[in-house]
Amino acid sequence: MGLNQKFRVKPGKTTRKLKLKDWDPNYDADKRKEDVESELAHFSGRMSELQYKLFAANNHSLVIILQGVDASGKDGTIRHVMGALNPQSCYVKSFKVPTEEELSHDYLWRVHMAAPPKGQIAIFNRSHYEDVIEVRVRNLVPKNELTPRYRQINDFERYLSENHVTILKFFLHISKDEQKKRIKERVMDPTKHWKVSEGDLLIRKYWDKYTESYEQALSRCSTHWAPWYIIPANLKWFRNWAVAQIIVNTLDQMKLKYPQPRIDVSKFA
Ligand code: AMP
Ligand code: MG
Repeated sequence: MGLNQKFRVKPGKTTRKLKLKDWDPNYDADKRKEDVESELAHFSGRMSELQYKLFAANNHSLVIILQGVDASGKDGTIRHVMGALNPQSCYVKSFKVPTEEELSHDYLWRVHMAAPPKGQIAIFNRSHYEDVIEVRVRNLVPKNELTPRYRQINDFERYLSENHVTILKFFLHISKDEQKKRIKERVMDPTKHWKVSEGDLLIRKYWDKYTESYEQALSRCSTHWAPWYIIPANLKWFRNWAVAQIIVNTLDQMKLKYPQPRIDVSKFA
């Protein structure tokens, strides 16, 4: 079974019972770090070629959504995997606590504004899923407003996909112990102090609530047009390899084509 299949959350009602404890965050597909590094270099090369084709074709775009608790490796994935991309047709958008202006609009407003134009790849560091995760954990909106959001998100993503935006969603799955270790490392390393926030302390307290909120989002919002992938992310090298491979497979499946030349190139021969 290919990775695209293995880590994909199958759309449909049966996934309502999705439990993250059934997904092993240490899974490594019997790979060794040394083997994976050369394969990652190969995927980086392919990714860059396919990005060039996407840019040339100029009729589709791709958005890559990264979600996961603090210290799950969103920043590291961007650096190690997306570092292979040409900045000319790629950008990263980080979604923070909404500003006053953002809060005065509907919650999808800021997300739609950041959707990639044709030919481009957008990487979302967090996304509209915060509006059903952080918001759910902290009870930031009443339940009767929260419940319809899962359907609204599916409708929004369907709308984007019908308008030539391919959507890939990665949940970086780490264990509670691994998170504790990583936050401890940040505390020990003065160059990482800036990354530690009050939220990192609170998340430990709310771990179960985050887990439950992610389970809801992953099961209710994995669709044929915008599937969720649960990436085992305790091992950073495996995480990078898995994400890179799924991006390459997805770009391959887009069957991108170079546009027809606008002039008779034989004249230049
Ligand atoms: P970081 O990604 O570490 O820079 O942190 C960004 C913070 O913004 C995280 O704690 C997110 O949970 C929070 N955040 C992002 N989007 C929202 C949202 N829509 N509502 C509430 N908090 C959010
Ligand atoms: Mg953080």
